[in-house]
Amino acid sequence: MAAEPPTALDVYRARARLRGRVAHTPLLPAPRLAQLSGAEQVLLKLETLQPSGSFKLRGATNALLCLDADALQRGVVTASTGNHGRAVAWAARAAGVACTVCLSSLVPEHKAQAVRDRGAAVVRAGSDQNAAVTEALRLASEHGLGYIPPFDHPDVIAGQGTLGLELLEDATELDTLLIPLSGGGLLAGVALAAKTINPALHIVGVSPERGAAMIASLAAKHPVDVPEEPTLADSLGGGIGLDNRYTFALAQQLLDDVVQVSEAEIARAMRDLYCHERLVTEGAAAVGAAVLARGGVPGGGRRVATIITGNNVDMEHFTRIVNGESVE
Ligand SMILES: *Cc1c(COP(=O)(O)O)cnc(C)c1O
Repeated sequence: MAAEPPTALDVYRARARLRGRVAHTPLLPAPRLAQLSGAEQVLLKLETLQPSGSFKLRGATNALLCLDADALQRGVVTASTGNHGRAVAWAARAAGVACTVCLSSLVPEHKAQAVRDRGAAVVRAGSDQNAAVTEALRLASEHGLGYIPPFDHPDVIAGQGTLGLELLEDATELDTLLIPLSGGGLLAGVALAAKTINPALHIVGVSPERGAAMIASLAAKHPVDVPEEPTLADSLGGGIGLDNRYTFALAQQLLDDVVQVSEAEIARAMRDLYCHERLVTEGAAAVGAAVLARGGVPGGGRRVATIITGNNVDMEHFTRIVNGESVE
């Protein structure tokens, strides 16, 4: 396992490794969000079009391909709020490698089933993400499996960063980027790549009001735990790890701004993306749109993009949200 923090060069190497294995996703103009926010242009990076339904396929595939041959022979293990587990299962199947995913009881059953559907074994472990990680690490050391962490690993961060390269190459005039923020693997990788290409880019991390561990940690200037609470943006739940090694420091270096959004704002953004852009998104994917729908762009930017990070949402639940049912 690489121990050095990832660099932009690692992101370029990841891109070479991932070519043909993950999608180069398109940018969709969102005139309605431009109107609401007063921006000249708003672009949506559609990671919902990755075969696993989220950007997590990038980091998972890169980390898996970086493991040594012995570990790959025995298989891989991970812990995840759903999308990472699903992505590792996808990457493992594509590479012909056995896969186990540890999930806490907070993770909805439809996400566990999606992992099983990709041929991976699911182990239910504990009542929060930390307990699931502990079990995954135990399985890794007991059976010599390759552990693929959800965010705090150089190969995972570099993999997510390939999204940032695509974005800045496809949208050369961009001045502001809104990034859904949880453990910070996405933000760290994308910001690393994007700021190498355009150091003036204004990078905004967006989290729910509920359980925003990275934002609390940035305020405290060291990693802290916050109580995990249910949120519509369930993929943004979980801590950053009190022993965080990479993403906290990178977020400190690369982040210009943070914003938090309410449950009602997330629901409204999911509804708006569906009705106006015809997109099915999970809560975590809609937080950037939720910020823009308030009116105004953080930092006053004119050419804005946000990442539509995933679509792993229970469709009955989604239908209730777009029909305007109460989400509390
Ligand atoms: C994991 C995830 C995020 C946040 O990524 P981090 O690297 O944990 O910050 C955002 N949206 C979706 C859909 C995710 O699955």
